[in-house]
Amino acid sequence: MTIKINRDLCCYCGGCSAVCPKNALELKDTWLYFEENLCVKCGNCVKVCPVNALEVKT
Ligand code: SF4
Ligand code: SF4
Repeated sequence: MTIKINRDLCCYCGGCSAVCPKNALELKDTWLYFEENLCVKCGNCVKVCPVNALEVKT
């Protein structure tokens, strides 16, 4: 299971990184970085994304 970022939809608002308890998502400059090893699959990021750019992939 992983988190998939749809970069065509993402507007780089930073909402997902703000709610990630493990800092697995990090907004740096104009790119959203995802560190899969840190992710605990809590789903917080998916819920807050205003444009549904995040998807849990099994
Ligand atoms: S599922 Fe949870 S731990 Fe994983 S990136 Fe999203 S907010 Fe962070
Ligand atoms: S919350 Fe959604 S739109 Fe905002 S940075 Fe994260 S993936 Fe992109």
